[in-house]
Amino acid sequence: MKPRLRFAPSPSGYLHIGGARTALFNWLWAKSQGGVFVLRVEDTDQERSSIESVRAILDAFVWLGMDWDEGPEVGGPHGPYFQSERKAIYRELVEGLISKGHAYRCYCTKEELDRAREELKQRNPKAQFVYPGTCRNRTDQPDLPHVVRFKSPRDGVTEFVDKVFGPISTPNAAQQDFVLVRTDGYPLYNLAATIDDHLMDITLVARARDHIGNTPQQLLIYRALGWDPPEFAHLPMMLSPKGEKLSKRHTSVSVQDYRDRGYPAAAVLNYIVRFGWSSGDQEIFSRDELVRLFSWDRVNKSDGKFDDKKFADVAFEHLKRAELTPLEEYAKNVQPFLAERGLTAPGPRTLAAAIPGIRERARTYRDAAADLDFYFREPPELDVKARDKLLNAEGAARLVELAETLAGREGWNATDLEAAVREWSEARGLAVKDVAQPARVALTGRSASPPLFEVMVVLGKERSLARLRRAPSLV
Ligand code: GLU
Ligand code: ZN
Repeated sequence: MKPRLRFAPSPSGYLHIGGARTALFNWLWAKSQGGVFVLRVEDTDQERSSIESVRAILDAFVWLGMDWDEGPEVGGPHGPYFQSERKAIYRELVEGLISKGHAYRCYCTKEELDRAREELKQRNPKAQFVYPGTCRNRTDQPDLPHVVRFKSPRDGVTEFVDKVFGPISTPNAAQQDFVLVRTDGYPLYNLAATIDDHLMDITLVARARDHIGNTPQQLLIYRALGWDPPEFAHLPMMLSPKGEKLSKRHTSVSVQDYRDRGYPAAAVLNYIVRFGWSSGDQEIFSRDELVRLFSWDRVNKSDGKFDDKKFADVAFEHLKRAELTPLEEYAKNVQPFLAERGLTAPGPRTLAAAIPGIRERARTYRDAAADLDFYFREPPELDVKARDKLLNAEGAARLVELAETLAGREGWNATDLEAAVREWSEARGLAVKDVAQPARVALTGRSASPPLFEVMVVLGKERSLARLRRAPSLV
């Protein structure tokens, strides 16, 4: 059977970078096996869920290039994919559990439970309060507010073999009669996730290891419903540099932030995959390579620490290498950052011609846009320090003359331009650099830029000449 994987976000904010890692492992396995990747929205907590958050999460998936085969917007044969629309399904199955004696209605009020909790605390401040099973054998079913609790077996053990953590065994006695359905009729996570994983034919549940403690409860529910459970794989955590829970204090935790800061999506995937997976010493992977190489036997259980610097280095590699970020993709992705600088979209050809000159240096698309700015701003922004150092009235006047010479030339390519400038400089007893440096300021407004003759080619004849002729106005 082809594997069916899922990612089940609770839409109460953006897509967390740790969530993206978990989704990635599921997505990679589905892709590599020709399986199915399902997105299921766990929005039963109405107060915390919002449609804006669903939107943000879906946008993050689109940006990361992780497509889903079933779920919101695309639909599929196992819908609805929003848990808030599946209440009738849960209700019917819960009735079944109650009538078979696997679950029961609990009428204990919050006040009663709080009081019992308080009494325990008086007796033993360290003890963990456990629901005492007051309603476990109650036979009447008054029409009063209630929750539904699972009737956990009192003996035996619940065991499973985790694909990452190996065999895990939990005594059932450790399980209290946990709540399945809240007073307002909404199912809690363990119930809804179990039912949906089964009805959606999920073959392997892969999620972060902070859910490992939920798995025995879910297995008990599977058993009570008479269903075979899927396989489980729990994944190590992505932690802060100090080993704490990763939070905004340490780095960007929302996937959206990485896009807004100008990082390539494939680099984000490349970096987060290392939280649990590796392939020898290889550090840099394309998205396709990850799909090709991913396998569960290379997944390990050690938590990882997020390192901003390492991430930035991975991103830089992706931006530098044309096989990882092809030119057209680079051009497309840098556009919004040019727009942010008030530069209207230059033609794709100009942009593609300009990028090779800057991609060796730019560490983000945002940097790239700054490095490209002078090509597309007329006049280019002037770095006054560069001008003071490299361009004076005499040099500027010379550039006007140079422009006249170049205007009469046929070829406008780097080799010809270099030869022309050399010839022109030597005829005047000047070193090429004495001409090139002022020319750089006139053409780019800066003291550092891609090679001058490449700049002139990208700018084209007309704009290059115009900028040289304008040189006297800069001093
Ligand atoms: N909605 C749960 C969460 O976001 C899903 C956990 C799971 O994958 O089972 O934590
Ligand atoms: Zn009760």
